[in-house]
Parts: sequence; C-alpha cells; structure tokens
Amino acid sequence: MRKKIVAGNWKCNTNVSEGIELAKAVDKLTAKEAANDVVVILGVPFTHLTKVVESVDVNRIGVAAQNCAAEAKGAFTGEVSAEMVKSTGADYVILGHSERREYYGETSEILNKKLALALANGLTPIYCCGEPLEVREKEQQNVFVKNQLEETIFKLSVEDFKKLIIAYEPIWAIGTGKTATSDQAQEIHAFIRETIANKFGNEIADDVSILYGGSCKPGNAKELFANKDVDGGLIGGASLKADDFLGIINGF
Ligand code: PEP
Repeated sequence: MRKKIVAGNWKCNTNVSEGIELAKAVDKLTAKEAANDVVVILGVPFTHLTKVVESVDVNRIGVAAQNCAAEAKGAFTGEVSAEMVKSTGADYVILGHSERREYYGETSEILNKKLALALANGLTPIYCCGEPLEVREKEQQNVFVKNQLEETIFKLSVEDFKKLIIAYEPIWAIGTGKTATSDQAQEIHAFIRETIANKFGNEIADDVSILYGGSCKPGNAKELFANKDVDGGLIGGASLKADDFLGIINGF
C-alpha cells in the first residue's frame, strides 16, 4: 500500500555530535507529536549512520545514506559501498539527487549500477528525479522527467521497482526558497504516476510513494501533501531543525 513518507536530507551538514543531537530531537518530538502512519526517514552523512541508528527508535524512524558506491567493493578509495551502508543498520539510500548528478557527474549508467547494488543489499532506494529551470521554462518537464525514469528505474524488474520510493525534486526549487505551487506539484506527480502505470500497470503505480522535494517548509507542507499524488516530502534545509521537520511531518 502507498505510504506517507517524510524524509530529511541533511546533505553535508552537522558534525557527528550535532547529528546525534538532531536525530535525538527528531526522535523525541515525533514520538510524542507525530501521526504514526507517517514514515519518517533521516538521510544523514555516512559518518553519522551507525550513531544515528543507535540514537533513534528504528521501529519508528528509518535511516538513509545520501549515496552509495557504484561498485560492490575493492580499490575505490573514498567510496562507501551499499553493503557497508546496510551494515550500519540503515535501510534506505538516496540515489540520483540532482546535486550528485550535477556536481559529481552521476549519469544514468552510474545510477543504474548504484540502484542494482542498493537493491541487492536490501536497501530501499529513494530515487530522485526532476528538471532544471531552463527545462521548466520551456514547459518540457514531463519529457525530461520521463526520460530520466526510462534511462534508470524503468530498466528494473517489476519486483525491484516495487521496492522504490520516488522523489520528484524540481532543481529550480531546491534550496532556493522557491516552491512548486501545489498545482504544479500535483500535475507532475500525476504525470509520473501515469507514466509508471503505462510501464508497470495501475496497481504498481498506485502503490508507489512519490515525494515532493524543493523548499518544502512547515508553512507549505499541508497544501502540498493535500494533493492526491503527493505522498510526502524529501526535505533539505528544513530537516536540519527538529521543530521545522516535525511541522512538515504534521503537514499530513
Ligand atoms: C533536497 O535537496 O532534497 C531539498 C529538497 O532541499 P530543500 O528542501 O532545502 O530545497
């Protein structure tokens, strides 16, 4: 069944002790004040994974890495494999974030290797897609996003596809304070779901959670999450403050 999900993406922020403090604050607040039908996930730096897993109630809060290596193991200095991520106790990995695509040259080919390794190691990928501003200005976002899906997650087997969470993140709204309007979000989420239905069938399209990302805040979460095809959010900046993150979770 389709789940309501709010996932934080801390990016390259917080040292280990600050991260533990933040994770504990989210754990405490959500235990008391969040609806228990919302899946809460914290996407933290690799260095924090083990400690964050130990600091939260993992029955209520999932922990995600923000990336994993495209190779299983070996002479790849500085890389962290999907198996290593899984061994920390984390259950999720964010893949294909636009910052990784743009700053680290992550192509669809590389992403496909990462997706396969994440899935083979029992991690749930939170797969990100979304268009840059120039594409949106030409109203070509549907073509762009469909192409991203076709080059990556549409190559998965049905069984693997069913394990994914998808995050639609318009690049022009990430960290800019500019949010897609509620109508813009619903329109493209519905398009993504319809595209999935055409590929894998209605039942699978109905079941997959599609999160919105891009300057989602406590003040706009409710309106965004009210859309029938928006199943939650992938939250950057606002996930760094426990109160704001809780405010977004309570947008449902
Ligand atoms: C993100 O990068 O995943 C994101 C949604 O960032 P922000 O919420 O800061 O726009």
